[in-house]
Amino acid sequence: MSGHGFLRIAAEEAFAPAEVLDRYRKLIDAGTLNDPGFTSLMGFYLGSSPRARQVMGRMTDLGKLRLRDMDESGIAKQILSLTSPGVQVFDGATAVALAQSSNDQLAEAIRNHPGRFDGLAAVAPQDPPAAAKELERAVRRLGLKGAIVNSHTHGEYLDDPKFWDIFEAAAALDVPLYLHPNTPSPAMIAPLLERGLDGAIFGFAVETGMHMLRIVVSGVFDRFPRLRMVLGHLGEALPYWFFRIDFMHRAMVAANRYPTVKKLDRKPSDYLKENVWVTTSGMAWQPPILYCQSVLGADRVLYAMDYPYQFVPEEVKVTDDLPISDSDKKKLYQTNAEMVFSLAQPLVTNFA
Ligand code: MN
Repeated sequence: MSGHGFLRIAAEEAFAPAEVLDRYRKLIDAGTLNDPGFTSLMGFYLGSSPRARQVMGRMTDLGKLRLRDMDESGIAKQILSLTSPGVQVFDGATAVALAQSSNDQLAEAIRNHPGRFDGLAAVAPQDPPAAAKELERAVRRLGLKGAIVNSHTHGEYLDDPKFWDIFEAAAALDVPLYLHPNTPSPAMIAPLLERGLDGAIFGFAVETGMHMLRIVVSGVFDRFPRLRMVLGHLGEALPYWFFRIDFMHRAMVAANRYPTVKKLDRKPSDYLKENVWVTTSGMAWQPPILYCQSVLGADRVLYAMDYPYQFVPEEVKVTDDLPISDSDKKKLYQTNAEMVFSLAQPLVTNFA
């Protein structure tokens, strides 16, 4: 598992209670939800193709099968989160209740397998005060290490101040918020769906990169300067765009072209370098990993596998073979995750 002077911690690893999957199925069957991306993608994964069965067979497992896969691929620890889109497709009351039960089950799995799992809380952005409360419960009482939000919630984005209770709670608790992909929102999915580009191939990055940029330019990090966020898939392409984003943002503020584009305390890329960490989930390719380390710094890039969607044990070797120093490799695999998610400092208190 180690033997290289580091432990491999994988930071974006999915699970789902069977109850959540059953509710996804019922929601799709009812035909009442306007979310073509969810219906298409989750409809596929709840189907009977070999790929769907392989992924979903592992999704619900928080024991033997998962631990065997981790051992075979050299993963010491998974940081688990409820699979995308989490509880965000449900009505508010259902979402709040399912986030709680899912977090309770996650905490139980972490207790049952000491040292092998940590977790991020599911929250229901549909009810921001309840989401903030659940995040506090999950961190203080369940020992979870932050929260995950799967991009849009019924087509809405977190830069809307009505959601800022969630940022406030994360900043106050000093835990990160992982902005995980979702299929593009109903307002932008049509041209992607027509060519099968809505999912992991590209649509996730379009949706999630845009969402992160909305958060940046809305001034969330000026309001919550200590807020930490995490992006998967090597930053959903944003690090490649820093130069142009900064240049154009400055130009647009100067031209006063949009009433919603305001001057920020710092350049957009400053927030993306200083408030945001990125993981390598689904991106087992050396050039962009090295690029992100050079642009963001070796302290800002973390390993993730994206299990069980991406379970290709040979890909670990791609990361092992990166032409970087042993100390940077330890940062990538272990210590950056320990730092961002405060893994070394159990926050669980006994007042439950
Ligand atoms: Mn993922």
